[in-house]
Amino acid sequence: SFQNSLQSALKSLAGKGKLTEANMREGLKLVENSLLEADVSYAVVKDFMASISERALGEKVLLALRPTDQLVGIVRDELINILGPVDPSLHLKANGPTILMLCGLQGSGKTTTCGKLSRLLLNEKQKPFLVAADLQRPAAIEQLHVIGRQLNVRVYSELGAQDPVKVCQDGVRKAKEAGCNVVILDTAGRLAIDKELMDQLIRIDNRVQPDQAYLVVDGMTGQDAVNSAKAFNEALELDGVIMTKLDGDARGGALMSVKQVTGVPIKFLGTGEQLDALEPFRPEGVVGRILGLGDMVGLVDVIKSKVDAEEQKKLQDRLQAGQFTLDDVRKQLMMARSPGLIQKMMMMMPGMGEISKMLQDSNAEKGIGQQIGIIDSMTPAERRNPKIITPARRNRIAKGAGVQAPMVNEVIKMFDIMGPMAKGMAGGNMGTAMKAIEQ
Ligand code: GDP
Ligand code: MG
Repeated sequence: SFQNSLQSALKSLAGKGKLTEANMREGLKLVENSLLEADVSYAVVKDFMASISERALGEKVLLALRPTDQLVGIVRDELINILGPVDPSLHLKANGPTILMLCGLQGSGKTTTCGKLSRLLLNEKQKPFLVAADLQRPAAIEQLHVIGRQLNVRVYSELGAQDPVKVCQDGVRKAKEAGCNVVILDTAGRLAIDKELMDQLIRIDNRVQPDQAYLVVDGMTGQDAVNSAKAFNEALELDGVIMTKLDGDARGGALMSVKQVTGVPIKFLGTGEQLDALEPFRPEGVVGRILGLGDMVGLVDVIKSKVDAEEQKKLQDRLQAGQFTLDDVRKQLMMARSPGLIQKMMMMMPGMGEISKMLQDSNAEKGIGQQIGIIDSMTPAERRNPKIITPARRNRIAKGAGVQAPMVNEVIKMFDIMGPMAKGMAGGNMGTAMKAIEQ
């Protein structure tokens, strides 16, 4: 029930009121588990957690003030740090065509990304030109032609070609003749990294000398992404990574692993099968997703703007003066209903998952609406002191709010719990608050 959830959530909050080494560890554990769930490689998570604890411990004094804010802030900054720096530029040359080579495992999204990049270039008034250098799969050449026709971009391919190096060289020449300034090479992939694939790519790299070599990685592959990224980077000296398929459920942990292991900048994210589903990479945009803690960018500001500080101060004063009423409960409930906000706040506090879970449940949302309705149906005197509510009045209130009478009792019980609890917290006395709940 609402009451039980609230009770246990407040209980754990009370326990977290002050920083102890133990409760920072709990926050760290939360982050660690979250990263592992996001499929960040174990070694990367281990390093990351070590650096986080080191930094967090250095900020002990500050942490004592706002433990979880501090920790979340440190984790966010460190993640942004690892995922950056940002460089979505394709580094086009002023003279002569810029050659981009896309490589990666089979099915990672190379051919699709050739189309996406072409589209992006067309939007920027550039003249892209595609080269079908995947001779491994017969359908690959036709797939690129389909994309080329869709975008009205020229595609070079050779019928029955054997040597991808020659196709690339011929393609670059044709692109120059056609007056195109960006040549994109769509290379072959394999199901797994093998020597033949790498040798082929190294030959193209040496003989065609692409200006930028990008690795296309399937963002859903998690741990495997690290191994392939490592191998490709050792063979080719990559200039960037494009991670695809981040439109699905993937939490994007591979971004962190790949960046940490290769040091190669992440350039773009693929977020769909359509050719416009390509986004320049922004660390801020993925940190919340990787952590699984929602969008934490500017979170503290959001909270500040929504939760009126003056209102809170007034509430605190009234609590201390023992003037806590159902009107205050109503205000808290209204705040709890403001979309997304409370969940974000809750997520920032380890142990507050209960309320958050409860609010994700749409029944709970409805329940809060009904509770507000019940309070609205009471007289001001009843809101100040619900003890004066007689059985007859209780039925009237229930009728007024369109609920069953026992729900009125629930709200009154909630008040009985929140009142002393809130007084204890306002007075900075967790012990009192805890006792209040335990009664
Ligand atoms: P290649 O073998 O590396 O050239 O991969 P393809 O470009 O042929 O893509 C393989 C499959 O992944 C195709 O079905 C694409 O439509 C799909 N795909 C590519 N990029 C994305 C993406 O960002 N999101 C989703 N959902 N699918 C993608
Ligand atoms: Mg392909």
